[in-house]
Amino acid sequence: MAESIPEKNTPFATYKRLFHYVTPFWGSFAISTVGYLLYAATEPLFATLIKNIIDILQAQNREKMILLPLFFIGLIFTRGVGTFLGGFFLAKVSTGVVHTLRCDVFNKYAQLPTAYFDSHNSGQMMSVITYNVREVTEATTDAIRTFVREGLTALGLLIYLFYSDWRLSLVFLAIAPVIAVMVSYVSKRLRKLSRLIQNSVGDMSHITSELVTGHRVVRSYGGKDYEKSRFFTSSFNNSQQNLKLATTTAIHNPLLQLLIGIALAGLMYLTLFFMDKVSPGGFVGYLTAAFLLPKPIRQLSDANSNVQKGITAAQSLFEILDEMDEVDSGNYQISRATGVLEFDNVSFAYPNSEDYALKNVSFTAKAGQTVALVGASGGGKSTVTNLILRFYEHSEGRILLDGVEISDYQLSNLRAQIGLVTQQVTLFNDSVANNIAYGGLANAPLEAIHQAAEKAHAIGFIEALPQGLATEIGENGVKLSGGQKQRLAIARALLKDAPLLILDEATSALDTESERQIQKALKEVVVGRTSIIIAHRLSTIEEADLILVIEKGQIVERGTHQTLLAQNGAYSRLYSVQFEE
Ligand code: ADP
Ligand code: MG
Repeated sequence: MAESIPEKNTPFATYKRLFHYVTPFWGSFAISTVGYLLYAATEPLFATLIKNIIDILQAQNREKMILLPLFFIGLIFTRGVGTFLGGFFLAKVSTGVVHTLRCDVFNKYAQLPTAYFDSHNSGQMMSVITYNVREVTEATTDAIRTFVREGLTALGLLIYLFYSDWRLSLVFLAIAPVIAVMVSYVSKRLRKLSRLIQNSVGDMSHITSELVTGHRVVRSYGGKDYEKSRFFTSSFNNSQQNLKLATTTAIHNPLLQLLIGIALAGLMYLTLFFMDKVSPGGFVGYLTAAFLLPKPIRQLSDANSNVQKGITAAQSLFEILDEMDEVDSGNYQISRATGVLEFDNVSFAYPNSEDYALKNVSFTAKAGQTVALVGASGGGKSTVTNLILRFYEHSEGRILLDGVEISDYQLSNLRAQIGLVTQQVTLFNDSVANNIAYGGLANAPLEAIHQAAEKAHAIGFIEALPQGLATEIGENGVKLSGGQKQRLAIARALLKDAPLLILDEATSALDTESERQIQKALKEVVVGRTSIIIAHRLSTIEEADLILVIEKGQIVERGTHQTLLAQNGAYSRLYSVQFEE
């Protein structure tokens, strides 16, 4: 990124950058340009044709007559070939550009840090891939087609006009500055409106996705009317901006035509005055060319509207592509950690937050030990896991895995050492087996998947499903109960067989029966690995080697179940509250 920030976002810079996406398709682009060049070349030739017809009429010389219809057919044919070459090869360019852009943005999403997702709404992010990319295609296709074809046509006509009589044609130069001012004003306004439209499209898809994913809550809490009116507002806003955009072009185009009309009227007058020495054919041919001129100019101005939309859409695409990836500067790698985890005086505040979520946290989990984090919600327990997985980068203190600062690990290598199960189980719209063997585990043998499911006490319900492990589970596992989903998540972690296991409230949402099942599963899971267990129910962690009580980001007590009870402090208070329940 050599460009400095302010000039990076100018329309011209955006266009240049967009053009980089065209370069891999330069061959098709060249053929397409040649096609439109052919097309454009035929336009002034029609004026020549008319000139010749009239001159032949005048000269009463009918011998060459047969040439004219042939010439005409030739023109139409050439124009047809030009249209095909231009259209087909341009489509190759634009579909290619869109594909590349779409994948670039998607790949970027896969690399962005967690903090980005915290501060951007999902609907906007999705509409960038669907809506913005389409706007960019339309801009590239339309712009290239129109600018090449109509631009060349207009240029050809102008050349013909100047060639026929350059002094008369100076009339066109007189209106050029006015046109330039008009177009630049309109372009700016179109870009502004396009940005508003884009945002409203993002809002609409955001509201829709919230309704779709949250429809149960929306209905049970009577939120239908609220959601409907929210959507109405954002859709209405979108229509208004679109209307404004249409109005702008609707006013701009006739004005432009009027301006050109005035120039043509002047030309007509001047022609009658000064063009006395040319043949009637030359005279009519000249005027024909002049009158062919408004059409390509109108189309150029129409295309400009799409181009401005496309530039705006591309600007926001490029803003995303320029976002920083997750920090991944470490290159330390280890094939399998022994699992010694140490927090050394770690303090951390979330980005955009002034309060510390963790303050001076220190503890050590020896290899194979189970460390439990307990405490009221909002205390900072999940933050500890977020830091271990480097979803957020800690800057104060050190976090060591096997004695090496986790920032020094290559990110994927670090994460390969950790099995994570959270309260929010994420399942994919795929089979049970593929959900257990997800991502890096995709090639796990069926045997191993089966074993993991067994250890997670999940095999019972899996085998009761219509197709066992091959059953499709629906979007985010809607067809499974909470406890079943949780056990699939545990099976996934088991299959990963990582030296460090993190369970963040993995059992909190479950009924007693499911919890008992999972309890049994967990006993097997923690064997032979270091485990960090965050549990709401203290019964789950009584056997932990070390229990840390976290309040307001600080460790207020530490010890085993027995010693902590004996201390009669925060832990024993938590314990007696739960015991009463
Ligand atoms: P616990 O897991 O103990 O319930 P968390 O670690 O989730 O608590 O949260 C600790 C504090 O950090 C809370 O005050 C919470 O509001 C804040 N917090 C958690 N996640 C984020 C985030 N992504 N951005 C900003 N603040 C956060
Ligand atoms: Mg939490």
